[in-house]
Amino acid sequence: MPSKKDIRALSKEELRHFFVENGDKAFRGNQVYEWLWQKSTHSFDDMTNLSKETRTMLEENFVINHIKVDQMQRSNDGTIKNAIKLHDNMIVESVLIPTETRTTACVSSQVGCSLDCNFCATARLKRMRNLNPDEIYDQVVAIDKQSRVYHNHKLSNIVFMGMGEPLLNYKNVLDAIDKITSDEGLGMSPKRITLSTVGIPKMIKKLADDEVKFNLAVSLHSAIDTTRSKMMPINDKSNLAELLASLQYWYTKTNRKITFEYVIWKGINDSQNDANALVDYCKKIPSKVNLIEYNAIDDGEFQQASAKATEMYVRSLEANHIIINVRRSRGKDIDAACGQLANKS
Ligand code: SAH
Repeated sequence: MPSKKDIRALSKEELRHFFVENGDKAFRGNQVYEWLWQKSTHSFDDMTNLSKETRTMLEENFVINHIKVDQMQRSNDGTIKNAIKLHDNMIVESVLIPTETRTTACVSSQVGCSLDCNFCATARLKRMRNLNPDEIYDQVVAIDKQSRVYHNHKLSNIVFMGMGEPLLNYKNVLDAIDKITSDEGLGMSPKRITLSTVGIPKMIKKLADDEVKFNLAVSLHSAIDTTRSKMMPINDKSNLAELLASLQYWYTKTNRKITFEYVIWKGINDSQNDANALVDYCKKIPSKVNLIEYNAIDDGEFQQASAKATEMYVRSLEANHIIINVRRSRGKDIDAACGQLANKS
């Protein structure tokens, strides 16, 4: 028997068409679409405004694939890490990060990752496959539920900073964001969504051309080509000048500032010279910098720079009127922090 198709791979138009082809009314497609997305229904039997025959017919033609929270770990700082099981038993991780006033979902876009950033645990997994739009959407739904249960309010923000490189799964990530922001989905504001990328110039330009409304963050980590290439091999394919050109293009089209994510490592990018290079880079594009704490992932090949180095960066950037935030890592005790997602559980 041929395997049944996942009904959530169909667009609303395709669902409407399916019903018409089967001698029913097009608006049944809208009803089913609402069950599948807005209500996140996992069973055709729960679609109570459809007749028993219609539900059976759907059952015969389709499956509803959905993710399962396979394991949930709670950190003593309130962070929750989920191991998410996909329909083919592959695992990705999603994290709920709480602050006093809001909760942020950190979601994955691929199983593993094809980029070889040498400080990131996910890079060790290699890339297995892209996530489908529904698999990305479901992570958000799962974390929204946890936010309501454990923090008494709905999810407020989403960051694509889990496993994978979102711009190498472009179509599915944008499709998921469309559904997350649509009134027929979760109705979240795109202003509360940030896509984080290693920085792929061609795809950044495409985002700008597609007039997306969400925010863009770029993992910079160094504004000196030789240093950046050492940490992030992608920089050999497209260097800092090309990256900058694509960001300037993005800014001209969207008028939205870029966030640079930046880790300072001992002996790698902790000198005044490194900070000066960052200042010069930031001056060329409206941006702000988030300094992220380094989360050690192995035997200590890399180490977080000293507090003095952080202060030096902060001073240098502030003296040049560049906004800089120092971000404390959350969920470290459960390996839920940046770069620690590696299906260890
Ligand atoms: N591929 C995307 C999103 C995933 S990584 C990207 O590169 O932006 C999310 C963030 O965590 C990136 O800024 C990444 O550089 C950072 N990161 C990776 N490993 C880390 C580690 N061990 N400690 C701190 N941050 C890390």
